[in-house]
Amino acid sequence: IKGKAKQAARAAEPARKAAVLGAGIMGGGIAYQSAVKGIPAVMKDINDQALTLGMNEAGKLLNKQLERGRIDGARLAQVLTSITPTLSYDSLQGVDIVVEAVVENPKVKAQVLAEVEAQVTDDTVIASNTSTIPISTLARSLKRPDRFCGMHFFNPVHRMPLVEVIRGEQTSDDTINKVVAYAAAMGKSPIVVNDCPGFFVNRVLFPYFFGFNQLVADGADFVRVDRVMEKQFGWPMGPAWLLDVVGIDTGHHAAAVMADGFPERMGKTGRDAIDVMYERQRFGQKNGKGFYAHS
Ligand code: NAD
Repeated sequence: IKGKAKQAARAAEPARKAAVLGAGIMGGGIAYQSAVKGIPAVMKDINDQALTLGMNEAGKLLNKQLERGRIDGARLAQVLTSITPTLSYDSLQGVDIVVEAVVENPKVKAQVLAEVEAQVTDDTVIASNTSTIPISTLARSLKRPDRFCGMHFFNPVHRMPLVEVIRGEQTSDDTINKVVAYAAAMGKSPIVVNDCPGFFVNRVLFPYFFGFNQLVADGADFVRVDRVMEKQFGWPMGPAWLLDVVGIDTGHHAAAVMADGFPERMGKTGRDAIDVMYERQRFGQKNGKGFYAHS
């Protein structure tokens, strides 16, 4: 974002308290990053085990920092206690921003967003971390679509600087400014993008994945492709490894959204390497097996 939009976002009052819905890979990461940057976060899930996992992940990240001497025990405790795990909506009172990061299922998201709206005040901004569902579609489940937008983080949240702030058809400037300000306060580098399949990053990334699929279909060895991209071309990881990090199930779903959204540019030409991994339930790092075996 540049110029006037940047100034307006800078002028927006940063959130004092946040809430994250979903304590999974992304929700847990968002709550941790918010807490680390001094913005207490309520972390709500429907599953007690997910909350425990989310808190454990935050604990692991903080312990690493403790081992490296970057923080002391008091700071570790302070950050951990500023994340409030909960199964109830009661703790949402007084939050300035809610980031929805539940499963990528439009029906579940629609229900959760409507529930949240009934709990918060008119001043609370609501954002979704969806990777693929159009923001204007999700906005239909809300009475006040003007205070809703996308806030798309990348995995792992604590390491990836970019956040896409997605403007839906009815999103107000005030909402965009507040979400940009929250992303910046979290130490992230936000960009504001229009609502379309794949937003910004996946429009760049998926043609690359589809190119990789074609190479494999032409007989290339995926390990060799990764090695060349990583060791010789200098990227941090090759396409197969990246798909394992993203999650093959997530990648498979997003690939379908991109193919539907841009049929002439990214239309499917048959069963590809991502389909094969998905059919074999090799979902990547999350279940220990994808293109590679992960321990
Ligand atoms: P995940 O499966 O790890 O976590 C989802 C969590 O949502 C689970 O803990 C589940 O118990 C919880 N949940 C389900 N229904 C709920 C409800 N009604 N209320 C509260 N919690 C509920 O999924 P994830 O990978 O963290 O993805 C979450 C969202 O973030 C999805 O929309 C996904 O597309 C998006 N996203 C994922 C990535 C990624 O790389 N994994 C990157 C960017 C965005």
